[in-house]
Amino acid sequence: MDVDADRLLQDLRILANFGRKGMGINRPAFSGPDIEARKWLRKSMQDAGLDACIDGVGNVFGSSRNAFSTVLIGSHTDSVLNGGWLDGSLGVVYGLEIARCWLASHPRDGFGIDVISFEDEEGAYVPFLGSSVFSGLLDATVLRTINTRSGKTLEAVLDAWRLSGVPAVRFEPKRCRAYLEAHIEQGPVLETNAKQVGIVTAVVGVRRFHIAFTGQVAHAGTTPVLMRRDAGEALIKFAYHLIEKFRDIAGEHLIWNLGIIALKPGAWYLVPGEGELSVEVRDIDGRTLDAAEAAIHECVNEAAREGNVECRAVKKRQVEPASMDPRMIRIFTEAAKDHGASFMCLPSGAMHDAMVMSQHVPTGMLFVPSIGGRSHVPEENTSTADIILGARVLLRAVELLRESS
Ligand SMILES: [Zn+2]
Repeated sequence: MDVDADRLLQDLRILANFGRKGMGINRPAFSGPDIEARKWLRKSMQDAGLDACIDGVGNVFGSSRNAFSTVLIGSHTDSVLNGGWLDGSLGVVYGLEIARCWLASHPRDGFGIDVISFEDEEGAYVPFLGSSVFSGLLDATVLRTINTRSGKTLEAVLDAWRLSGVPAVRFEPKRCRAYLEAHIEQGPVLETNAKQVGIVTAVVGVRRFHIAFTGQVAHAGTTPVLMRRDAGEALIKFAYHLIEKFRDIAGEHLIWNLGIIALKPGAWYLVPGEGELSVEVRDIDGRTLDAAEAAIHECVNEAAREGNVECRAVKKRQVEPASMDPRMIRIFTEAAKDHGASFMCLPSGAMHDAMVMSQHVPTGMLFVPSIGGRSHVPEENTSTADIILGARVLLRAVELLRESS
């Protein structure tokens, strides 16, 4: 049994035509191109012999009719604005191709492949909407009242596509033995290490903080430096000390980003009265994230001790790290070896639907290299050889799962 490389590549190219604009892909959740792509996927799943539907939150789910024990393969086909052609589409098309291979060679097997494209992984409305509802983490009826990022209720969005009243498909723990997601790496690690396949050990947890500094606006020419309440200076000292602390506690993978820095009013001749700083930390170990959070509070206290500028930190988001299933890591390792693929184990610094699913079912994640480490841009790409090899390793992993069960 082998994947049909031409068919796989052709499906990826067809999918890339939905929402194509120049070199880039514009297929945010519930946009016209996203829904059209989902209809194409539903038809492709049906042609493959799966029972397929678009459910009440936009997930496309293809289920193996005769199977009572399944592995679920998928990812997401929504994209960011002006994104690339692979991203989550890769993992969905892998699932479709592997289901086709499996049904052709095991038409009456009790073990089957289910395939899913989760809706809104990228968070145009609600991040991880599809996998959260599918796994039961979020209740679809409650979700309908949520005011989304765009300011509309989800109900209005679903109504517009006549999805209100359509039931949401729910994950069946008795039937589903594992969730496997393939995705482009979105970073430079595999390429730099000359590896063809990445086996994900864990998906990082994320914490986000908004830090506000309040001083007093003053004329910069007439107010002596020692008599100012300078929110800008306080912010810069805070950021410098925080980075020093992060360097001290950084485990192997702690990643931080100070992505927003703003001073108000923002003029040559005015001492800033207000400062705003965003701090995001990511790590696969919750204890390291605790230490990073403690460092933020230490810096807030230090700023308060300085005395003349108020400083407050508010946590905006907390997502726990998610370990991938050790058995799935072993199976991917064996599958990579069986294909003579060079591989390495690595954490995922980006969040994925696998993070949500891993709370409910043994989950494994496979990466293929991103050329130049680029992703979420039109230039996003993976070599044809790596795309095909990734599908073969994933198919081999499914065979190993079947054999070992
Ligand atoms: Zn993705």
